[in-house]
Amino acid sequence: MFINQELIETLLKEAKSATDNDIQIVLDKANKREKLSYKDIAILLQINDESQINRLYQIAGDIKNDIYGNRVVLFAPLYVSNYCVNECTYCGFSKCNKFKRKKLTMDEVKEEVRILEKMGHKRLALEAGEDPKNCSIDYILDCLDTIYSTYNENGNIRRVNVNIAATTVDNYKKLKEKGIGTYILFQETYHKPTFIKCHGQSVKNDYYYHLTAFDRAMEAGVDDVGAGVLFGLSDPKFEVLALMMHNTHLEEEFGVGFHTISFPRLKKAEGMQLEDFPHLVDDDMFKKIVAITRLAVPFTGIIMSTRESCEMRNELLKYGVSQVSAGSLTGVGGYKAYEDGEVTDQFEVGDHRTPIEVLKELISSGYIPSYCTACYRKGRTGDRFMSLAKSGEIHHVCTPNALTTLKEFLMDYGDEELISMGEELISSEINKIDRDDIRNITKNNIAALETGQRDLY
Ligand code: SAM
Ligand code: SF4
Repeated sequence: MFINQELIETLLKEAKSATDNDIQIVLDKANKREKLSYKDIAILLQINDESQINRLYQIAGDIKNDIYGNRVVLFAPLYVSNYCVNECTYCGFSKCNKFKRKKLTMDEVKEEVRILEKMGHKRLALEAGEDPKNCSIDYILDCLDTIYSTYNENGNIRRVNVNIAATTVDNYKKLKEKGIGTYILFQETYHKPTFIKCHGQSVKNDYYYHLTAFDRAMEAGVDDVGAGVLFGLSDPKFEVLALMMHNTHLEEEFGVGFHTISFPRLKKAEGMQLEDFPHLVDDDMFKKIVAITRLAVPFTGIIMSTRESCEMRNELLKYGVSQVSAGSLTGVGGYKAYEDGEVTDQFEVGDHRTPIEVLKELISSGYIPSYCTACYRKGRTGDRFMSLAKSGEIHHVCTPNALTTLKEFLMDYGDEELISMGEELISSEINKIDRDDIRNITKNNIAALETGQRDLY
């Protein structure tokens, strides 16, 4: 078993006696961009002194800046079905909750996609509950076909990441054939006894099958996988070390670890009370674990959803987050229902801003909002993506594409204020591109957008 629970517990126990000097040594190591061991990470997780925490944030920010620059990728979730055979104690879709279940028809999928396209989205995360009968793999494959083929006057959705239950190698192959981006699956908790407690009489209550889902996905050729822990179920320190062990396992077996790690934090949902969960993670701890993860796996994207408030998201962007969702609704048919004045959620959302509002805030904080989907369409997935990221060359494709997709957004969706903010950012960022050839390509692509061309990368 590649999650060595005993080792994690021993490391955490030993780290309790770590001194400020021990922590300082690990911070220095991270600052020199040296790889951190599990022991180092366990020590860092003990950090409590304010000046050391500030140093942690500063190093995390520097690493983020070196690797991701000031780009922030945007996406939105699309919930297609809330049928679920599981009884996860934390989730509003649990079969224990009695409400009228819904899955979108293909016409409804089109309608949701059109609304998301009208907001300017190019990248979605498809979400569904687990129900082999009411939400089969064939249904998910039909949804993918429908999403990719639904065009509005400005084009279509260019990348669909998929967050569905753990499944078989054959099913992952089918998803791969449909051209999915990342396959996302949250382990919820790596702590086995807690996992078993949280999943009752459920199909999902097979810790080992859930844990090995990425092995099957990789075997099927899906080489971008996105992990996550539902923070609030078990000890967050344990979870961070377990995430690292899982990542190492994939690196050793398949040559590439997680493409992304998501940081969902438990939110109030139908049928559960937050007070019933003894490991809720407070804001300070949450910030620390995001920053420590940034130090531990510098090249893995960190995703923050709208479960978090605008203030928390803004702060975490400084310490490591590289992708955020925007304008999200977490109910099936949620976008149409919202337009019609109804709301149906999986859990409560903390950031209710529209994508335009999110973009304005990002730009005014000096970030380049990016709708880029070029990598996987150019075959830069798995270890090919990672080696480009590790070489530092990724800037040369990401920044031009971020600027080009921002320009596209301004032209197709921007209001007056956003256009003026965005144009100013684009001109100053283009001038910062250090290679003449790349600066010229970017300028040419932006000029081509003005003549009516789209989707240039
Ligand atoms: N049904 C699939 C599964 O469970 O893996 C995937 C989709 S599920 C809609 C996506 C994720 O929502 C779950 O993996 C869980 O971590 C998260 N989630 C469920 N209830 C939540 C809550 N109350 N607060 C925050 N996130 C929650
Ligand atoms: Fe179903 Fe996923 Fe919710 Fe569990 S987390 S009840 S599997 S939708």
